[in-house]
Amino acid sequence: MINKNFDFTVTTTCGYCGVGCRLEAHAKQGRIASISPALDGPANEGHTCLKGRFAHQFTRARDRLTSPLIREGGQFRVASWDEALQRIVSELSRIKSEHGPDAIAGLASSRATNEDCYAMARLMRAAIGTNNIDNCSRVCHSPTSFALRRSFGLSGATGSFIDIDHAEVALLLGVNPTQGHPVVGARIKQAALRGCKLITIDPRRIELADYGVAHLSPRPGTNAAVVLGLCHVVRRDGLTDEQFIAGRTEGYDALVQLLERYDPSAVEEITGIPAADLEHAAHIYGEAQSGSLLWGLGVTEHKYGSEVVQLLCNLALMTGKVGKPGSALLPLRGQNNVQGSSDMGALPDTYTAYRHVSDEETARSFEQAWGVSLSREKGYTIAQMFDAAIAGDLKAMYIFGEDVAQTDPDTAHVTAALESLELVVCQDIFENETTKYADVILPASSFLEKSGTFTNAERRFQVVEAAIDPPGGAKTDFEILTTVSRMLGHEMGFQTPWDTLEEIARLTPAYAGLSRERLGRRGLQWPVRADGSDSPTLYDTTFDRPGGRGQFAALPYKAPGDAADEEFPLVLVTGRVLQHYNAGTMTRRTHNIELVDRDWLEIHPVDAARLWISEGDKVSVRSRVGHTELHARVTERIEPGHVFTSFHFPEARTNLLVGQSADVNTSCPEYKVVAVDVRPLSEQPAFTPALGPHKASARQAQWSA
Ligand code: SF4
Repeated sequence: MINKNFDFTVTTTCGYCGVGCRLEAHAKQGRIASISPALDGPANEGHTCLKGRFAHQFTRARDRLTSPLIREGGQFRVASWDEALQRIVSELSRIKSEHGPDAIAGLASSRATNEDCYAMARLMRAAIGTNNIDNCSRVCHSPTSFALRRSFGLSGATGSFIDIDHAEVALLLGVNPTQGHPVVGARIKQAALRGCKLITIDPRRIELADYGVAHLSPRPGTNAAVVLGLCHVVRRDGLTDEQFIAGRTEGYDALVQLLERYDPSAVEEITGIPAADLEHAAHIYGEAQSGSLLWGLGVTEHKYGSEVVQLLCNLALMTGKVGKPGSALLPLRGQNNVQGSSDMGALPDTYTAYRHVSDEETARSFEQAWGVSLSREKGYTIAQMFDAAIAGDLKAMYIFGEDVAQTDPDTAHVTAALESLELVVCQDIFENETTKYADVILPASSFLEKSGTFTNAERRFQVVEAAIDPPGGAKTDFEILTTVSRMLGHEMGFQTPWDTLEEIARLTPAYAGLSRERLGRRGLQWPVRADGSDSPTLYDTTFDRPGGRGQFAALPYKAPGDAADEEFPLVLVTGRVLQHYNAGTMTRRTHNIELVDRDWLEIHPVDAARLWISEGDKVSVRSRVGHTELHARVTERIEPGHVFTSFHFPEARTNLLVGQSADVNTSCPEYKVVAVDVRPLSEQPAFTPALGPHKASARQAQWSA
């Protein structure tokens, strides 16, 4: 595009959240001059939020990493690329020969492109010889992936954002789209204004509750009981789709038996949701001809997060609200490429498209293409990597685009693991909490400086185009990873990321029709068949399971891994704010810092009064595993007995508070239920009265399977 104000413009895909807005990035003199929305972007249709449109100043921040750094005598010094890469390769080779390939692990990044993630997985599998590869979807949406595969067959949304426009009802559980996924949040608002009935379910009264017809506020950790209660009412009152159940599902009888236990009064006892409110919501959803379900980390980051996603699938199956327009199950992915990083096989147990490493046919196809023998043994998950490091079994980690020391739970455990390793390589765009433990730091590139593809929360592959070069001596992640692999003796043979995309398509039947040309400006939703046709709606006629039927799951409510008690009487819930993104590495280096400059602890006025806490007070927050300090914000948006904070600022160190409790099926940490004690630090009275456990929490803890 020629515009006299810019040297050139490229159409690319936003690198912040999983909505996948298409952007026009305008460059002038090697810098991003401005960004505007692409009017034909299928996910954003001409809209963006303030992150995608304005938060690009980080690309030229003074503290960008522009040269490799090597630790020497406890200090970092600037090194040449040659020296830094030689150090990495010689240390990895030494560790591999002394301890075997499984003493090495790698982390791919859900912020990076599909091609970067694929190259990282290939580096670990083919050049090192281990399946110790994971990515940060482990700590956010791995329960979604697990559950969707169990219930329906494939690991992705069943439909598209456009289904929101056609839904008679939209039920949101544990997700706050106007903050975390703003363009989808705006789309939901517009749908509500046109008559779509919104049901919001969240411990906080999220903004979209003001646009809805029902808001349910369950106690943290009780989502399963809420969904079981909805299913109970739907079945009891004859709102099920019997034809769909009989013709397209299996396992219903066991669920019916289980649902007997979850009448609205029993659910009220567990969740605190008034029985009449639950009945009202169940009828709105059950009576609608079409309905979409949306969820986020408020569902997945729990001890039984994967089971709650399976229960949501039950609700859709028993009402026949799947596989047709307006009836989509839409997990809202946090980071821009959470979907793609796992699709690409940057996981310890699967190759591309979730084919297991022990599957002979798949493994052989990769062996043939890569010219190496590949392990059939599952590798370490992220949490297992840290455990293995502390146990002395893991000696090296190559961490690409992740700040695990800030974002992963139980910070003390993570940093102890990093300290235990003989080699830590960090490949990133800024120094961060994790690079403090690095032996070598490699300066890499942001999404505005690289090319390839991202896959958004609708399973849509979309093109990413570099608008500017990486600064100084920084390189693209693709160049770094392919070079390290070559130096380790495994030549990938890729000249550009588009060669990688071609290999991904060639080795993955579900992506067989992918090519840069076919992706064009609007992208394609997987599966992408060999003729290039794609799949906006899954399961319109059959599920992708043996026998083609959707699977009901009879899973009872179980109490969360943590609960309030005398010593820790409040339950902490964590989440995002609109202005910042994840660890804040990028947004804290933009003008968004002038809008929000810290993480706040939200507390209800009743609890604040009992604890002598006023707006703005600095407070101590203590959990069973850690302690931090935050400033209080007194608000009725949070329920009594609960507190809330975001996690965008390293100084808040929120994850010091989170323990080892994790989803039973996927090891996704239980970030969303942490019992804490909160005390004022400034001008507190000599005696601070004990709050005592929330009465309801004691009842909740009595429930179990
Ligand atoms: Fe980027 Fe998400 Fe904002 Fe869209 S909604 S501009 S993808 S951060």
